[in-house]
Amino acid sequence: MSSYIPYGKQNINQQDIDAVIDVLKSDWLTQGPMIERFEQAVAAYCQVSYAVAVSSATAALHIACLAIALGKDDLLWTSPITFVASANCGLYCGATVDFVDIDPRTYNLSVEQLEAKLKQGKIPKVVIPVHLAGQSCEMEQVYNLAKVYNFKIIEDASHAIGGEYQNHKIGGCQYSDMAVFSFHPVKIITTGEGGIITTNDRELYEKLIRLRTHGITRNPGLMTEESHGGWYYQQLELGYNYRMTDIQAALGCSQMDRLDEFVTRRRFLAERYNRSLQNLPITLPFQNEMSNSSWHLYIIRLQLDKIEKGHRQVFEALRKSEIGVNVHYIPVHTQPYYQTLGFKRGDFPNSELYYGSAISLPLYYDLSEEKQDYVINSLRKVLK
Ligand SMILES: *Cc1c(COP(=O)(O)O)cnc(C)c1O
Repeated sequence: MSSYIPYGKQNINQQDIDAVIDVLKSDWLTQGPMIERFEQAVAAYCQVSYAVAVSSATAALHIACLAIALGKDDLLWTSPITFVASANCGLYCGATVDFVDIDPRTYNLSVEQLEAKLKQGKIPKVVIPVHLAGQSCEMEQVYNLAKVYNFKIIEDASHAIGGEYQNHKIGGCQYSDMAVFSFHPVKIITTGEGGIITTNDRELYEKLIRLRTHGITRNPGLMTEESHGGWYYQQLELGYNYRMTDIQAALGCSQMDRLDEFVTRRRFLAERYNRSLQNLPITLPFQNEMSNSSWHLYIIRLQLDKIEKGHRQVFEALRKSEIGVNVHYIPVHTQPYYQTLGFKRGDFPNSELYYGSAISLPLYYDLSEEKQDYVINSLRKVLK
């Protein structure tokens, strides 16, 4: 087999293409009626009161932090095993970022470590649990700690649309103030670039709506003086242009129709990996019984004491076989920029240990069983 197998990839069908073309032929290109439809589709799916679509999950995390007034005297805690955006959003707001080490079984932020860190006395304004690979963090436990220690919770659910926790769709915000999804093409559904914030809190919702367009309102009820006329708007705070276009939202609506089909296929392929990769010197993804993952990623850990090759050698051998394996993620605190902020190697040992042996295998809607077998057999050969 010669064609390259990526680790993740979007699926665009004719319905998706037609939805986009319809918008291109209409009067509205930027934020308009399709945005509202997309937001309603996501809110209905997640059984949450509000959804605010924006230009990326990074933008979503940024304005979610602003909406809770995260600022320069505040602390944000997240997991080191995430994309840098989960931490950078705190720095955009001038806050101080710190990390909570991972649970060595799920690779999500550890609730035990979170509790131990809270007991040391410094209390964050917000904790951002990341649902790595689509498996939910232990949200009820995080929420119980939030009630005792009084911090906010923003779920970075970038991997997790379509996933469930305690039989509720992730994004329903039962145990959080807000949740964020990403629609980058490698994620579960795509809008090209895009993100959304869900919340049940009306006040947060109204702030988010303003923050994505410069902090501007046209609602007379919120203005500091009477309207000057039909043209009048007021800027109430400092916001941004984080709008999603209607072109993207149309793609999003069409992809939402297909979400369950995408997740069903991902679960099927993950099960197939689970069955086929037994008895190899690797650790398969552990699944918490409260969670039903959306399977954005299928992450294995090499049991390096049982393999003659190193992590990098295995990775490179698979890449040589045209298998686009990847590593998610480089611990954020080891990035040079975060090292300038005072973090050191060794600060979060479970995350660093994880990084030394984790490999993401290809997993996406279009992955054929034939190609998956090729991945399985190649891995088997490499580990021999
Ligand atoms: C992809 C991703 C983001 C950022 O998403 P964008 O839409 O690309 O801005 C943030 N957090 C995690 C965990 C991600 O995987």
